[in-house]
Amino acid sequence: REEIGKLQWLIPEIDEMLGGGVETQSITEVYGEFGSGKSQITHQLAVNVQLQAENGGLHGRCIFIDTEDTFRPERIDEMVRGLDDEVIDSELEYRDIEGSAGDDEAMEALVDDVLAKIHVAKAFNSNHQILLAEKSLEIAKEHEDDDYPVRLLCVDSLTAHFRAEYVGRGELANRQQKLNKHLHSLDRVGNLYNAAVVVTNQVQSNPDAFFGDPTKPIGGNILGHKSTFRMYLKKSKGNKRIVKLVDAPNLADGESVMRVENAGIKP
Ligand code: ATP
Repeated sequence: REEIGKLQWLIPEIDEMLGGGVETQSITEVYGEFGSGKSQITHQLAVNVQLQAENGGLHGRCIFIDTEDTFRPERIDEMVRGLDDEVIDSELEYRDIEGSAGDDEAMEALVDDVLAKIHVAKAFNSNHQILLAEKSLEIAKEHEDDDYPVRLLCVDSLTAHFRAEYVGRGELANRQQKLNKHLHSLDRVGNLYNAAVVVTNQVQSNPDAFFGDPTKPIGGNILGHKSTFRMYLKKSKGNKRIVKLVDAPNLADGESVMRVENAGIKP
């Protein structure tokens, strides 16, 4: 078993709260209402995971399972340009791209290189999503000895298809069983390939959620047990978001702040 890696958000207060960052070989669940910034976080982590260790990354690539058609290459572009100049310079050097931060051609080449290391797969329904998680194992294996092995698997959103397809009380057990199987294969990718697994989840703040607590994430207990780290996002004034760490093993519950900016998620 390889040593657990820590992937930084590059927000010191949050990274400290997480004991250094998002852990590999674990599932981290980020949940919150619509527009709270869940997709912003998955995009930012898809960039950060590629950075060299001294810049907070894991020097790895990302598999991004996109279930709601929310992946935006333009957003990755903005986030790469939004990195600190020193980080950009060292990434350019590492990737053998001539030029420096702010230099148009160099920045374009860097963005292209970062995008090439994000494997986006769109899931059309829950069965397809389950299949893509199984495929992720193959992609991770393919890149195992690569300069950039898979170090992050994002599923954004984990629950949307399941929620839409398994409607009503009678379907609940079935839904949980499928979701559990899916989580199991995500977990396998994380454990076998030393990757962080980050999944997003909405809260049940919608009127169709007639069972369950409206402030609780969808998925109930099974998801609760599988996701080792749970982070709750809450909208605050303007672009400010409250980030809470809930029920993490060996870590104190905590609360921090982030901002969603054009340059990415920032302190
Ligand atoms: P949903 O559950 O609806 O998918 P979410 O939690 O994934 O929502 P995001 O899409 O991650 O939410 O976040 C949306 C927020 O990010 C909005 O407040 C939006 O203003 C902000 N945002 C998105 N793109 C940018 C950008 N380029 N510059 C600044 N803020 C942005």
